[in-house]
Amino acid sequence: MQKSILIIGACGQIGTELTYALREKHGADSVIASDIREGNTDLMASGPFELLDATNYEAIEDVVMHYEIEEVYLMAAMLSATAEKFPMRAWNLNMNSLFNVLNLAKEKKINKIFWPSSIAVFGPNTPKENTLQNTIMEPSTVYGISKQSGERWCEYYFNKYGVDVRSIRYPGLISWKTQPGGGTTDYAVEIYHEALNNKKYTCFLEEGTTLPMMFMDDAIRATISIMENDSENIKIRSSYNLSAMSFDPSEIAISIKNHISDFEISYEPDSRQSIADSWPKSINDAEAQKDWGWKPEFDLEKTTKTMLENLKA
Ligand code: NAD
Repeated sequence: MQKSILIIGACGQIGTELTYALREKHGADSVIASDIREGNTDLMASGPFELLDATNYEAIEDVVMHYEIEEVYLMAAMLSATAEKFPMRAWNLNMNSLFNVLNLAKEKKINKIFWPSSIAVFGPNTPKENTLQNTIMEPSTVYGISKQSGERWCEYYFNKYGVDVRSIRYPGLISWKTQPGGGTTDYAVEIYHEALNNKKYTCFLEEGTTLPMMFMDDAIRATISIMENDSENIKIRSSYNLSAMSFDPSEIAISIKNHISDFEISYEPDSRQSIADSWPKSINDAEAQKDWGWKPEFDLEKTTKTMLENLKA
């Protein structure tokens, strides 16, 4: 029998593409998409969907029992920029949703969990270049504090209750199928849309704000890979550093200019600048490479080419 998978927060930037990828792999009916709202038409047509609130334990339990779910991918969260506006709502959503799935696994109602962390677990005191897996963290944003706490709880549930939870610290993610959901790296998606529509873009981060980034296909591949690896290969049960590329807004602009020669970028930094300033510029992911064979496929040039081609189409 095919294993049954539940994705919570399936209508967001990552959840949408993860749903497509897992349905392709396991069959549409084995992958139950769920979210607090409906997703785009393609997603809704691609297989079973449940309206589900990630903070409601009983509601998740009902869906898990009904579909005999074995694995849960928890993608529901409030992202960095939005969380700064609604600190308590962000904390409640980001922590309670995680406790709900951790407790379902503790009670042996599900077997395996994927929960994403973020480069936001690092803070202003973290060494910014080639940031190591284990280093000073001290996150200074609501979002980062929730992700670091989440990591501690994941490791705790693994050590204490044997819960098979796996996690990646995603960098900023770039995708063309869905829009980003209120993060500090959203500019790296908006810029491609604006380049094609208006040939100019006003960036909410300053020139020189280098951040770790990744194309969505790599992120989805990493997510499925860490989940499919043998349990003994997953040696880190808080969350793995993961890296693909780093660039600042001027470098992404140059890569776009290679395709749209009259494209122009200008800068009007807003409150997201201080969040970006607290994060690393580049990430060392030696452990992910060694433990479960991680290797990225998309650099900036390949990302720009793929984004422009697909958004144009
Ligand atoms: P998103 O905001 O695009 O999607 C989140 C989804 O969760 C949305 O569809 C939203 O409707 C849903 N949701 C919100 N509240 C809910 C609730 N109470 N119950 C059920 N669903 C609810 O976010 P994303 O970019 O897809 O991120 C997914 C995960 O990856 C998050 O944990 C995020 O912190 C993490 N992450 C994302 C990035 C990135 O660049 N996108 C980077 C690092 C980490």
